[in-house]
Amino acid sequence: MSAIESQPEKIHLPKTSESEQLKKIRHTASHVMAMAVQKLFPKAQVTIGPFIENGFYYDFDSPEPFTEKDLKAIKKEMAKIMRRKLPISREEVSREEADRRIRSINEPYKLEILEGLQEPITLYHLGEEWWDLCAGPHVETTAELNPDAIALESVAGAYWRGDETKAQLQRIYGTAWETPEQLAEYQRRKEEALRRDHRKLGKELGLFIFADPVGPGLPLWTPKGTILRSLLEDFLKKEQVKRGYLPVVTPHIARVDLFKLSGHWQKYKEDMFPLMADDDGDRAQEQGFVMKPMNCPFHIQIYKSELRSYRELPMRLAEFGTVYRYEQSGELGGLTRVRGFTVDDSHLFVTPEQLDAEFLSVVDLILEVFKSLQLKNFRARLSFRDPTSDKYIGSDDAWEKAEGAIRRAVETLGMDHFEGIGEAAFYGPKLDFIFQDALEREWQLGTVQVDYNLPERFELEYVAEDGTRKRPVMIHRAPFGSLERLIGILIEEYAGDFPLWLAPIQVRLLAVGEEQLPFAKQVALEMQLLGIRAEADTSGDRLGKLIRNAEKSKIPVMAVIGAKEVEANALSIRTRAAGELGVLPVAEVCDRLNSANQNHGNF
Ligand SMILES: [Zn+2]
Ligand SMILES: [Zn+2]
Repeated sequence: MSAIESQPEKIHLPKTSESEQLKKIRHTASHVMAMAVQKLFPKAQVTIGPFIENGFYYDFDSPEPFTEKDLKAIKKEMAKIMRRKLPISREEVSREEADRRIRSINEPYKLEILEGLQEPITLYHLGEEWWDLCAGPHVETTAELNPDAIALESVAGAYWRGDETKAQLQRIYGTAWETPEQLAEYQRRKEEALRRDHRKLGKELGLFIFADPVGPGLPLWTPKGTILRSLLEDFLKKEQVKRGYLPVVTPHIARVDLFKLSGHWQKYKEDMFPLMADDDGDRAQEQGFVMKPMNCPFHIQIYKSELRSYRELPMRLAEFGTVYRYEQSGELGGLTRVRGFTVDDSHLFVTPEQLDAEFLSVVDLILEVFKSLQLKNFRARLSFRDPTSDKYIGSDDAWEKAEGAIRRAVETLGMDHFEGIGEAAFYGPKLDFIFQDALEREWQLGTVQVDYNLPERFELEYVAEDGTRKRPVMIHRAPFGSLERLIGILIEEYAGDFPLWLAPIQVRLLAVGEEQLPFAKQVALEMQLLGIRAEADTSGDRLGKLIRNAEKSKIPVMAVIGAKEVEANALSIRTRAAGELGVLPVAEVCDRLNSANQNHGNF
């Protein structure tokens, strides 16, 4: 976390959607780039060139792929065009006139684009020598673009209209900002994102792998990564014991009928792994088994297995439940999007009177989790339904009650929040915690949902104090969200430097010479028996290399052992966070590590 604190004052980098001016700049920059390309490569034909989140691109049909050297030349040509202060002017023309002009410059892709355009057709001219079909918006003259705030980033292949059967094009990506300072900050963050990339760090730190024979989106956890997962699970389980949760375990597959009853099959089928049917007859009838995309219907069965009394409520069933979703393989990337992942799931069955208090206590748990993980920068999103959409189940009354409960909780707590209309689950609204990382990227982490609909569909009941049968309300909640995704985000946020309590290896014992190795091993064993994750480096390398390797593996505490340390039953301590701490007795080092583990603190 020290990297964040030492950062100088923060430069905000708005996304295109947040700044009208950047929209104009990026849009104009893509035309300027196209003009420059056609000046240098007269055979290149233009296609489309939209703005994107942090910049723009333009696709060209060019006989030769563009090289790095070409990009430099194009950038130089763009700077010339900017310096010429070419006015950007709009011209409205008839479809016939647009057609005539496009044919006169022989741009077949433009003709295709024209077919799809609604009138009025608008052309934008850069000075008097180049124009493009476009709807705007743009800046007034090319001089409003600052060559020092624009960079061309890369070239990639792309297909015309994204269709593999159509022409292969060359896409040039660029980025454009208002000031050179913004560009420099953008480039710094891009480099920093590469340095922190969890796919790269996960491999370097030996936390997880992907294996082609296993399949895309299916991570395999190595021993160190498994320690990390267990630490997170154990931490949450302990918090849950304090709060009266009851553990359950449920299977990974179930009859598809279960998901027809919950509504997942009807609303969510496309995202599930395909049906496992015994024969074609069953397949035609949609009978058979499916991998579970969610845990809720299983926990509901446990609730339903007996007639429940109000005395048993709230009933909080919790499971680290692994679920499977059929994400498109193009969407898979590292741990943030996977096909099998573990949700720190829980379902709370509560009386309507208990709802507000239980909801608040779930939010309290989530805040406690974030604190222990040292995640400070987050906002709450009220993820409500879009009332005009038909992708939801349940009555308006149920939705209003559930959304009201979430709104009351956020207001009671005075939390920083915003509304996300259309972000609800299909069975109920959610409170989502959106975390902003050190690079201003946003990630959805924990979630809490209020649900009146599944209790209705599964006809859940409890016997109330007056002896009548009543319907409970369900709260679905997952503070981590998915363990896989959380770990991916944590690796990037910490840049691989886990807080001491989460580091898979907390301390490495480094013997200066062969003679100190038995002592190093003995201390490592003593520490392990105390629940401290310690290891002795037995490689026999010289001290300089031992230290370098420990640094590279981002081990938070290094304990150097020479003859004097053995003599004094002590360790010469060096931490990644604070550097040299001098010689400390073994017992004191153990105490400090133990208390860091208890309190999620530093050494
Ligand atoms: Zn334009
Ligand atoms: Zn659920």
